[in-house]
Amino acid sequence: MDQTPFEADPGAAPAGLTPMMAQYFEIKAVNPGYLLFYRMGDFYELFFEDAEIASAALGIVLTKRGKHLGEDIGMCGVPIHAANDYLNKLIKLGHRVAICEQMEDPAEARKRGSKSVVRRDVVRLVTPGTLTEDDHLDARSSNYLAALAMVRHGETDFALAWADISTGESFVADLAAEQLADEMARIDPAELLLTEATRAALADMHLLAPAWANIASIIRPEAADSEMAMPALRRIFPAERFDPTALSRAGRGALGALISYVGESQKGRHAPLRPPVLGAADSAMAIDAATRSSLEILTTQRGQARGSLRHAIDQTVTAPGARLLAARLAAPLRDAAAINARLDAVERLVGDSLLRTRLRQDLKAAPDLARALSRLSLERGGPRDLAAIGKAVAAALDLAGHLGAQPDLPDRLARLAETLDAAPRELASELALALDDDLPLLARDGGFVRAAYDGKLDEERVLGRETRAVVAALQARLMDETDIRALKIKHNGVLGFFVEVPAGHGQKLLEPPHRETFIHRQTLANAMRFTTTELAELAGRIAKAQDAALALELAIFARLREQVLSRTAPLQGLADALAELDVSAALAEVSATRAYKRPRIDDSLAFAIVGGRHPVVELMVAAEGHSFVANDADLSGEAESGGGALWLVTGPNMGGKSTFLRQNALIAIMAQMGCYVPAESAHIGVVDRLFSRVGASDDIAHGRSTFMVEMVETAAILNRATKRSLVVLDEIGRGTATFDGLSIAWAAVEALHETTGCRALFATHFHELTSLAKSLSRVANVTMKVREWEGEVVFLHEVGPGAADRSYGIQVARLAGLPEPVIARAKQVLEVLEQRSTGTASSRQKAGVLDDLPLFAHQPAPAPQGRDSVHEALDAVRPDELTPRQAIETLYELKKIRDDARRS
Ligand code: ATP
Repeated sequence: MDQTPFEADPGAAPAGLTPMMAQYFEIKAVNPGYLLFYRMGDFYELFFEDAEIASAALGIVLTKRGKHLGEDIGMCGVPIHAANDYLNKLIKLGHRVAICEQMEDPAEARKRGSKSVVRRDVVRLVTPGTLTEDDHLDARSSNYLAALAMVRHGETDFALAWADISTGESFVADLAAEQLADEMARIDPAELLLTEATRAALADMHLLAPAWANIASIIRPEAADSEMAMPALRRIFPAERFDPTALSRAGRGALGALISYVGESQKGRHAPLRPPVLGAADSAMAIDAATRSSLEILTTQRGQARGSLRHAIDQTVTAPGARLLAARLAAPLRDAAAINARLDAVERLVGDSLLRTRLRQDLKAAPDLARALSRLSLERGGPRDLAAIGKAVAAALDLAGHLGAQPDLPDRLARLAETLDAAPRELASELALALDDDLPLLARDGGFVRAAYDGKLDEERVLGRETRAVVAALQARLMDETDIRALKIKHNGVLGFFVEVPAGHGQKLLEPPHRETFIHRQTLANAMRFTTTELAELAGRIAKAQDAALALELAIFARLREQVLSRTAPLQGLADALAELDVSAALAEVSATRAYKRPRIDDSLAFAIVGGRHPVVELMVAAEGHSFVANDADLSGEAESGGGALWLVTGPNMGGKSTFLRQNALIAIMAQMGCYVPAESAHIGVVDRLFSRVGASDDIAHGRSTFMVEMVETAAILNRATKRSLVVLDEIGRGTATFDGLSIAWAAVEALHETTGCRALFATHFHELTSLAKSLSRVANVTMKVREWEGEVVFLHEVGPGAADRSYGIQVARLAGLPEPVIARAKQVLEVLEQRSTGTASSRQKAGVLDDLPLFAHQPAPAPQGRDSVHEALDAVRPDELTPRQAIETLYELKKIRDDARRS
């Protein structure tokens, strides 16, 4: 590759624009917003601004080649064999890339004249939402492309369509404006398509979440037009499986935008999109973005897997199973019957550990069918994808054998067994017969069809092998004829087959009689290379046999691919069944090994947890060799009595309030996604919305202070919670002045109790709030128990009735390592403040303390006596000089000094 499109070409017109440069500009112009990977030989080259962006992003050298309008042209390139890695990096950084390939052999182009350019075209647009290769994707997470459409008639309606083209799943849901943010947080798409008009309208309505800016791709208005979408929707989805008129106008617009973008990015290749699942956003438990993040459902607040609920309970053995588990965790159900059907399946597998182990063993042998199928459909699949499909089908049949043999299966498992049993057996056998054990990634590399599968292929291979034997015989003969023992016939990519002799013997072959036979090809420092007519003829025969064999293999590949694709729909159904079985078995496994219990789920307003545990903290505490203290919660209410109970949780810092609050919210999620729960028993009336606000955080990036964030989230809860909701609130009103905060917390408790009637846990350090239990019938006080021992506080992590009278903040501060003088001074101030609030401190006392604040006077407070005298005595001790008897006496002495100091 030593030519660029921009080198001066005196023959080209006008203004030095070479034909190649004209081609580059033409292609670039129709793909605005994309970095253009322009194929030149063994490289993808980038030019101009693209080159600057890519070289900075990838850390590769920016060179200059040629000039345009008098300016140097920046250029950088990535070699084809490493292009995937570079592409991955660029996409992760949020860039979008157009892949432009050479569409013909350069030799073809030359036939049209020496100046003609190789035909090139963009074969694929790579964007974060349209990835399909394993290298670019996280196997255990979905990768959604979403499209948002808006229709205005009277009120504004939205619809969101989303799909993972690496698996073919697709969904459409109509949404009210206030549901948008929650739904986006749940789906967490990699890319969001919307028109400029929709973007502007969202901004006007203050609905445009700042995080969406990073994933937004603006599309043309026609692309999201509900009427123009209809023909494409009819073409893509078979009429018997999907009726586009069932969609709302906004739904058609969104789905239309989605499929047109997929079509454009894949340049006509067929993404195996399945007819969309039409979702009503209210079929799932509503969980807003703040709640999701505070409960650390799929990732922790820092974005890590470890520490999240998903990480704690995910025991799936397949990647599709892991993706389904994540989807279920993100969208717990609201329908008690559907939840119980899932729980029935889990219960059956909890109860039969032998069956569970066997199923999990079989599942491990099932590769990612959906992603392999998608790649094959998009003409990006190779022999390994075919093999993956064969193995998944074989695993499904094994599973069907084990599951189908079981008596009295619950409905869901019985249905799964049926689906698995209907797996295309003959396809699996055909693939197993056809494909070798060791497979290349790409079909064009050949060598993947098993011997004895195809007679003609075997013949060509034998021919190739025989000719190689003839070549070996030729080497022996030439050795004899020339009497050069070191003569060898070798092969490389440039020369093909050649005869090589050490440099010292080369001259001999250039002279008669041998020069009649040997044709000189190359001289190296220590060897000389030749060919002969006979060798060239044999090489030709070998190449022909190889070409013929490869052509046969490619034809076999195409036929097998067709056989697979003709069964796309049933195979996708099979992939679903495998994933669902994996999830059920995994939930059963985690439930059985961690002593989780089946929750009782119904439509009541119950929330009665006995012996509840936090699924994540429990593991962490156990890893440190401690045991988790289980706690009960009963927020059960009845509609007639105005709703559920509200527990005011007080207790010391570090006492376990947040853990208790979160564990109950997590138990609700686990139960409604169809999992057993970490508790002795749990009775939960279906929760429609879950709100959790635990701990304060600020959102400086979006100009909101800690207190503002807290109030926005509290407002959302008070405005949106219903009698069916579960609300978990921690420390409302801490970010402002004490009285403001207390008043807000007070009013919030009253509103939740009087107006909303939801089931709620409300943790607070405002001990004044606990008096509300006297006036509000469904408010109860509970506290985290502590024991004081020798001036230190011991946390029992136990929830009991009653209210705490203090927060032990100073003790916790000491544990955290605040300097001793500061702790002593804080105690002094606290004492006076407490007396002041009870009215027992004299004004002289108050003035004395406040005037004398040493922190302001820059004087360190005197260290308390007791510690100092102990320290002094300790300083005087020389352990090396003590006899054992003296040591024990010293110990008694030290304790005495400490006790005397305390008494004084
Ligand atoms: P703060 O008021 O300072 O926010 P907190 O009362 O909310 O504190 P948590 O953060 O819930 O306290 O708990 C502190 C630590 O105590 C946890 O990280 C955990 O290690 C431990 N802990 C909490 N609950 C339990 C429990 N039930 N059993 C055992 N350990 C627990």
